[in-house]
Amino acid sequence: MKLPSASLLSAALVLAACDSKLATTGEAATSSTPAKAAVIDPAAGTSGTQATSTDEANAAPDPKTIPAGSTANAAAILARPQVPILCYHQIRDWTARDSKGAKDYIVPVAQFRAHIKMLADSGYHTVLPDQVYAYLTTGAKLPSKPIMLTFDDTDLDQFTIARPELDKYGYKAVYFVMTVSLGRPHYMTKAMVKQLSDEGNTIGSHTWDHHNVKKYQGKDWETQIDKPTKTLETITGKKINYFAYPFGLWNEQAFPELKKRGFVAAFSLAEKRDQNDPLFTIRRIIASGYWKPRTLHNSIVQSF
Ligand SMILES: [Zn+2]
Repeated sequence: MKLPSASLLSAALVLAACDSKLATTGEAATSSTPAKAAVIDPAAGTSGTQATSTDEANAAPDPKTIPAGSTANAAAILARPQVPILCYHQIRDWTARDSKGAKDYIVPVAQFRAHIKMLADSGYHTVLPDQVYAYLTTGAKLPSKPIMLTFDDTDLDQFTIARPELDKYGYKAVYFVMTVSLGRPHYMTKAMVKQLSDEGNTIGSHTWDHHNVKKYQGKDWETQIDKPTKTLETITGKKINYFAYPFGLWNEQAFPELKKRGFVAAFSLAEKRDQNDPLFTIRRIIASGYWKPRTLHNSIVQSF
């Protein structure tokens, strides 16, 4: 896969259109069970109250409490049906200045609302990383039609537009924060990130300033990973356990570095998972601004 040039990198930062490409097929060719991640939780329907995503999230164990010795091996993890995961960036109406390519990363407000409504109408339940981690490592049950919604790059509209929309349906999400942007114009503040966390969403790391993990050496690990993790833990008062690769780019060398810094899983984009370390290459697809709800639905079914 082509690495982004330095100029592309700055362009991506300006646009906050930061992931390297759209891919909707990924492992679809080798995956024979699309969207069958529906593992019915027998407890969910019997509690007498409607299970909300928050209840489910609360029910998921802290990943650090799952003993390493009792977790599934790579082959077993790869054999489980994948949970569909969507990746969003900006949620705002297109302007004349938006390039054709950028529009994959900019979902117009009405389109976004239609995406979320389609998911709700189709019976999808949002899940969070602790639930997916427990599912992948121990076979823990998930709600029927699970889906994870993730938002990268700290854009303000994720708080002002996406959050209230998800609230309508009791949906929770994952926000992968790039800490350099906190408090800047058009980006979320620390208080907003704290609020999202307090409201039961998961905050993950997306580095300090979006540099490609494959190029880190020496101090880069401290700048891009250690310090942002500390910042996010101070803001949320919680451990930061999950990471999303800028541009979706990763290499095997990154896995031990992330593990020794306390991450339990990392999220890439639509490319094939690493066969030895599937937890550090959990797949997501970018929900394009061009996609009508029907296209999104087809992509979900075909890609996972
Ligand atoms: Zn990004």
